[in-house]
Amino acid sequence: MNKKQRKWRNRILAAIALFAVTMVLEKMGAFDAAFGAAEVYAAFALYFAAFLIAGYDVLIKAWNNIRRGDPFDEAFLMTVATIGAFATIFFPETEPQSAEGCAVMLFYQVGELFQSYAVGKSRKSIADMMDIAPDYANIERDGALVEVDPDEVEVGSVIVVKPGERVPIDGIVTEGTSQLDTAALTGESIPRHVEAGAEVISGCINMTGILHIRTTKPFGESTVSRILELVENASEKKAKTENFITRFARVYTPAVTISAVVLAVVPPLLGMGPWTDWVLRGLTFLVVSCPCALVISVPLSFFGGIGGASRLGILVKGSNYLELLAKVDTVVFDKTGTLTSGTFNVVAVHPEAGVDADYVLSMAAYAEAFSDHPIAVSIKQAYAGEIDEQRIQDAHEESGHGVQATVDERVVLVGNDKLMREHGSTWHDCELTGTILHVTVDGVYAGHIVIADVVKDDAAQTIHDLHEAGVRRCIMLTGDRSDVAEAVGKKLGLDEVHAQLLPEDKVNAVERLLTAEASDAKLAFVGDGINDAPVLMRADIGIAMGAMGSDAAIEAADVVLMDDKPSNIARAMRIARKTMRIVWQNIVFALGVKALILVLAALGIANMWLAVFGDVGVAMIAILNAMRAMRVPK
Ligand code: ADP
Ligand code: MG
Repeated sequence: MNKKQRKWRNRILAAIALFAVTMVLEKMGAFDAAFGAAEVYAAFALYFAAFLIAGYDVLIKAWNNIRRGDPFDEAFLMTVATIGAFATIFFPETEPQSAEGCAVMLFYQVGELFQSYAVGKSRKSIADMMDIAPDYANIERDGALVEVDPDEVEVGSVIVVKPGERVPIDGIVTEGTSQLDTAALTGESIPRHVEAGAEVISGCINMTGILHIRTTKPFGESTVSRILELVENASEKKAKTENFITRFARVYTPAVTISAVVLAVVPPLLGMGPWTDWVLRGLTFLVVSCPCALVISVPLSFFGGIGGASRLGILVKGSNYLELLAKVDTVVFDKTGTLTSGTFNVVAVHPEAGVDADYVLSMAAYAEAFSDHPIAVSIKQAYAGEIDEQRIQDAHEESGHGVQATVDERVVLVGNDKLMREHGSTWHDCELTGTILHVTVDGVYAGHIVIADVVKDDAAQTIHDLHEAGVRRCIMLTGDRSDVAEAVGKKLGLDEVHAQLLPEDKVNAVERLLTAEASDAKLAFVGDGINDAPVLMRADIGIAMGAMGSDAAIEAADVVLMDDKPSNIARAMRIARKTMRIVWQNIVFALGVKALILVLAALGIANMWLAVFGDVGVAMIAILNAMRAMRVPK
């Protein structure tokens, strides 16, 4: 609780104390004894004092709203209802409602305080979790470490991160070894070992050794800044349900207010009973007309769902995506880097007669030097030798085909049969199952490298979980060969696989699937953001995984999985479904109880006590329910 809330709480407690004392005295007949016939006025005065102590701010707010010509908010409703209740004192033929008037305000304020506390708490827990923003970076100046604003650190300078500190900026370790705690970013609890040459991202905590890191990005573009930006903006993209509730509240409140007036005025005019009786029923209506249970709890549920997800390293860019995610019935996967690990093992190198196997591998590694594709990374790793970048010219990637580069003045092509066909090279197939990289030098076929990637540990389980969670179809798209695709598909229990697709074919495939979708079912595409950004954008929901560091993916996707574990997709979906369940529970529950009380109030069965219990109680239960969305299994 913050200072303002504590003051608020004390004020309410004081008012409750005064209220309780007054009530006891009244019941004991103390006022009767002291004031005789004027006892109702004495009780009135004390109740009214308690009322003012608890609710003067509500009265002021209502007054300000009226002056601004925008009266229909809860402060106004509460003011009219409570003042109305107190006004019964002027009608001697009715039972005075002073205690009721005071109680409505007390409960209302208790509810408001609780609300503010709950919202503050979930904000704070998200802020804590998102408390990954470093305040400073250490740089070495004249042999001493100085703390500087991370914003001022230039790209390429060396920063020093001591044990216990957060890495402020993305970069590459130049010196030192350590363990990094990435839990705040990925939800992964096992620390990551890093040493010289390792890429590190900002937001991780350095646990054991001193690290020197050469920064590769400015602070504003580092992972940590991007994540914070993303989470901060998430509340702007509202879910349909959220917008619906806002619109609904705008209609509901005036509608109930008008009904209250009608209820208070029409029946007595028709001679159906005394005025005071009907006016009281009308006032009870006003108390119930607060839509606060919905207006607060629905956004809070989404907020909680997004917050809970981000604790697992699942960043959802808006509540609308959470809502869509709950409706997904088709999940389309990219293969490489998504379902498979993206690190390829070299299975075999088959040089042509008279060509050295090492030569084929080295040419391939040189041609791939500037590519970030998982294949390129793996080939460079397999080659293991130093690559002299001076020897390479005109390197460029042909998406879904391979690469072309000039190495030592010779044109080298590395890629699949499509690339070979496109360049009119001769090549021949291989009897092994795997991804085949053909290599030509100056148009002469040098041989091929057979590589294979392994499916991720949790991939099969993920497909199983998704089916379990009600996803109808899991489909894999890949640019790789059919035999590889079929093998993976069988292993993982996929419903469909489509192979040999170029990046643009993938977009077409997704478009076809989209048109075939039922109107309220959604399609999610999961990729790693390497050459599949267009597909990520095209799907109802684009999910990028292993996004630590991949800017294109973070940009294009709607849901970003920091880790590269496919099981997070199933987790994200479970969180989305749970959040939507909570949202609807709250909507149905709140509206149900309110409708019931409205009916009872119109019939004269519900009094103000019940109304205020109904209103505040429903709000509290809805808020507690909403806070469940924040809790996610680790
Ligand atoms: P996926 O659909 O599995 O993610 P890509 O669309 O990235 O695969 O690539 C499809 C195919 O194109 C690969 O299987 C490979 O044959 C070829 N390819 C793509 N990029 C490269 C590269 N840098 N080097 C060699 N071959 C490549
Ligand atoms: Mg890919």
